[in-house]
Amino acid sequence: MNLKIIRKELLITGLIQGVGFRPFIFTLAEDLGLKGWVKNTDDGVMVNVEGGRSVIDDFLEQLQENSPINSNIETLTITEHKPQGYKVFKLQPSESKGKKSLFVLPDIASCPKCIAEIFDSTSRRYQYAFTSCSHCGPRYSIIKALPYDRVRTAMQGFSLCSACLSEYNNPADRRFHAQAMACPDCGPSVELLDNAGQALCQDISAIKQAADALSKGAIVALKGIGGFQLLVDASSQSSVARLRDKKSRPEKPFALMCRDMQQVDHIATVSAVEQQLLLSSAAPIVLVNKKKNSLDIADAVAPDNTRIGIMLACSPLHHLLLSYCTMPLVATSGNISNEPLCIDNQQALGKLGAIADLFLLHDRPILRPIDDSIMQEVYGTGMMLRAARGYAPMTIKLPVTKATEIPALALGGHLKNTFALSQGDYAIISQHNGDLESFAAVSGFKQNIEDLSALVQHQAIAVIRDNHTDYFSSQYADAQRDVAIASVQHHHAHLLSCMAEHQLTEPVLGIVWDGAGLGDDDTLWGGEFFSVEKNDIQRIASLRGFTLPGGAVAIKEPRRAALGLLWELMGESLFAQTDLAPINAFNEYELSLLQQALSKQINAPHCSSIGRLFDCIASLLGLCQMSSFEGQAAQRLEQSIGATATSEHYPLAWVQADSLSRFDWGAMLHSIIDDLSQAVSKPLIACKFHNTLVEMVLHITRIAGLNKVVLSGGSFQNRYLTEAIITRLSALDIEVYWQQKVPSNDGGLALGQLLSVINKGI
Ligand code: ZN
Ligand code: ZN
Ligand code: FE
Repeated sequence: MNLKIIRKELLITGLIQGVGFRPFIFTLAEDLGLKGWVKNTDDGVMVNVEGGRSVIDDFLEQLQENSPINSNIETLTITEHKPQGYKVFKLQPSESKGKKSLFVLPDIASCPKCIAEIFDSTSRRYQYAFTSCSHCGPRYSIIKALPYDRVRTAMQGFSLCSACLSEYNNPADRRFHAQAMACPDCGPSVELLDNAGQALCQDISAIKQAADALSKGAIVALKGIGGFQLLVDASSQSSVARLRDKKSRPEKPFALMCRDMQQVDHIATVSAVEQQLLLSSAAPIVLVNKKKNSLDIADAVAPDNTRIGIMLACSPLHHLLLSYCTMPLVATSGNISNEPLCIDNQQALGKLGAIADLFLLHDRPILRPIDDSIMQEVYGTGMMLRAARGYAPMTIKLPVTKATEIPALALGGHLKNTFALSQGDYAIISQHNGDLESFAAVSGFKQNIEDLSALVQHQAIAVIRDNHTDYFSSQYADAQRDVAIASVQHHHAHLLSCMAEHQLTEPVLGIVWDGAGLGDDDTLWGGEFFSVEKNDIQRIASLRGFTLPGGAVAIKEPRRAALGLLWELMGESLFAQTDLAPINAFNEYELSLLQQALSKQINAPHCSSIGRLFDCIASLLGLCQMSSFEGQAAQRLEQSIGATATSEHYPLAWVQADSLSRFDWGAMLHSIIDDLSQAVSKPLIACKFHNTLVEMVLHITRIAGLNKVVLSGGSFQNRYLTEAIITRLSALDIEVYWQQKVPSNDGGLALGQLLSVINKGI
């Protein structure tokens, strides 16, 4: 046996602070009888181990295989040195020279051990709503500054009692150096108030009374992890309708919060992947298939929708509340329409007082608003739709082709905004900031930029925006002084976002389909094919254009997009048609105005958008004439397919214009109108329409001759479409990349903007 002692020094970077990483290293080294030390430094976690070579090999293997569940090792550098003759293995104090880190831990849902404690009457944390440990609990929502230590969190005001302190100092304890830990003796507490701000009761009685009120129809505002949530009993049609009325949210589906998987199974059919997402430590809202005739859920929760968003309880407070509720709860963002989430008790009482009957509050401050995240399963894996609690802020390595030291701030788009900061070849992407459509949303956006920049000590010297000058994010960029300003075309940014996520640098065919973004020719794009080679992006194909009568209004009214498309096809004769749903969706007066607008092309911007094409077909099928939220018409069209399965599609026609192949939807439209007149079922028409788009992709892929295809843009949130494209292309041995970690919608733009500017230079 080789007894020669060696010493290895390890430097580990990634998401490793605040997840019990050092205690894990400590225990592992002790178990293997290795000597040395571990400490947090600005560069990462540094470890020195001394012992026999085979034992150290064992240590390294276990380090990577069994690291704590919420940690994520980004790099591991190992060097060998002369042994120092260490006698023990030590945890050394953190060493910080104030150097910046781009890794910030997101909030983590309660771990099984903590949940067991709050329901164990012999535990000192029985029924305690702020139980957490080094594997779980709030992080990003309570961190004031880095490195992550209690004094720099919202827990700073709660001094540990002696019992907690001994756990905190014991390396063998689950709460060793758990910065957010607390107990009923020393931590935050819960209080129930009425909407006039009158205190009613505290602690577990507050939770019980809130549950009781919910069962009787009350709307409760609850202070959650990243902000307030509005809750009602999801089984009560009248309570849900009342919440819709008070929140001015007529149709957009509400998400549900369930106690456990058993409760979820009553409501929805959940696949193994969906269950994994639901139970993950990020505990996002997961879109799943609603069970037909589920008696547990009121129709008003997700009207005319076959899918429903469900999340599991993500904090001890939620677990306790749900344990006293017999039914699942609607849990929706505690804000006024188009405003950021409320995070402060007084602010919530003021803003939500007219909506909620009761307020379940606590005294642990929330430092920044973070909404619930949303995911769905696509082709057997998770797809991010909204990255917030549990995922944000997200650090991603950029596939840079040129080293850069220029720290940049990319501002994203207008809807579903996120921004991103770059440092070297890493990008950190912010939480979802919502649509920048109100003064409050805009100030929230500015505040979040200042906040994240301060947290990671980022000082941008370049600012990047979308080409569209009307976006508030673009105007914000232009108002910055003493920085370089660059702009990136909307669909290039989508495409590069997906390439960044998958670390792609090789030539690809990029397909970017979305609602609309400003193109290079000042028309609205959104059905685009690009060839990408060495930072050069060429538009090679698109759709035949059509006009959107009313411009921005048409984006909210599928019937207008349909009129624009039909006008292109039929001209004046369109207005003589009597059996087309979009025509019948207007009154005569409106039609005469639209006829003039179209014939004179007044306020009728040109577009080549797949999202708008979806609107047109949904309108033609009478599925949606006016949409009350983004993507509603496309969602209805996709869902209308139901169980219909066919490989039939409509005729494909192409026109060549301005060196582009343009898909000519004319032949398809005539066939759809024929099908409608022959009473072909709408699910079949919807299915054939989707299949036509898939054929379109196959056609261009064959012509482009590239064996890697990148999909991005909001349209690929459509599962039928995306899965069909992946299936068909994979069968041809083409590698398909679609967005999984970063949203395919405009929430992914900022990441692509960064990559574009870094690789092309400012
Ligand atoms: Zn825990
Ligand atoms: Zn305590
Ligand atoms: Fe877009």
